[in-house]
Amino acid sequence: MNQVIKVSAQEMKKLKENYHPFFLNKSVPYTEFVAKKNGTTITAYTSGKVMFQGANAEQEAARWTSSTVPTTKNTKTKKNVTTLPKNFAQLSVIGSDEVGNGSYFGPLCVCAAYVDRAHLALLKELGVRDSKELKDSQIISIAKNIREVIPYQLLVVPPKKYNAIQPTYNAVRMKVALHNQAIQLLLKQIAPKKPEGILIDQFTPEVNYKKYVRLEKEPVQEKIFFITKGEHYHLAVAAASIISRASFLEELDKASNELGIPVPSGAGAKSDHVAAKILQRGGIDLLNQYAKLHFANTEKAKRIAGL
Ligand code: MN
Repeated sequence: MNQVIKVSAQEMKKLKENYHPFFLNKSVPYTEFVAKKNGTTITAYTSGKVMFQGANAEQEAARWTSSTVPTTKNTKTKKNVTTLPKNFAQLSVIGSDEVGNGSYFGPLCVCAAYVDRAHLALLKELGVRDSKELKDSQIISIAKNIREVIPYQLLVVPPKKYNAIQPTYNAVRMKVALHNQAIQLLLKQIAPKKPEGILIDQFTPEVNYKKYVRLEKEPVQEKIFFITKGEHYHLAVAAASIISRASFLEELDKASNELGIPVPSGAGAKSDHVAAKILQRGGIDLLNQYAKLHFANTEKAKRIAGL
């Protein structure tokens, strides 16, 4: 039995990928490909028509006519990109990002920054880009400059406060609350101006964010977008990332000075050893002021310290 379906250019790509292992080595005019799979011959025409012939024709065609078209690895990110308004990078946007979540020592810093269209060129000139491409010293000097140019709200949760909140708020809910609060404060700061969009560097699925943000007193839910690697989609996220990272680095520096030991970022073996020294000096009360105690590093440090 023959089945003929019509597919879009995008779907054709998926068909090609899918049937690639079954391609027949023959060139037929006006076709994208001819394949044979489980006794079914699939002929895809450049017009978008696809003919299925043979034993499983109906079944095979049904795979492509139902709404659940097999997805490729890239469709998720592509879908995310398309949810952003057109020319998003050129719009006036609030971006927000956090730093310190994965580091045992140091605070959790969340920043929301507003970048007006008119400031885009200047920010580029000041060197604002993906902070992962920047050295710590560059981050600190760029942050200093942009703090004077753009409106922003920076929230810093020191370890002691983090440790007090953490048992009741999980890490994700805490971050949602902080992003929301930073954005809310910034919206008030720039009013009556309104951003054309709000972009959060994605740290949790959108449904999760929305679930937790509803628990907040003043949830911001309008024109809000989520995307991973947000700094690649608008300079506002890059700016927010730089400001929060600079603040995080400054806090680590302060901690190092207070303790007289270089306090590392991250959550590796170095952190265990520094934590052990702190425990030996002042016990868990002292460590509570510098580290996020729920990390596994705490137990490792106790063992090293012989506690
Ligand atoms: Mn981030």
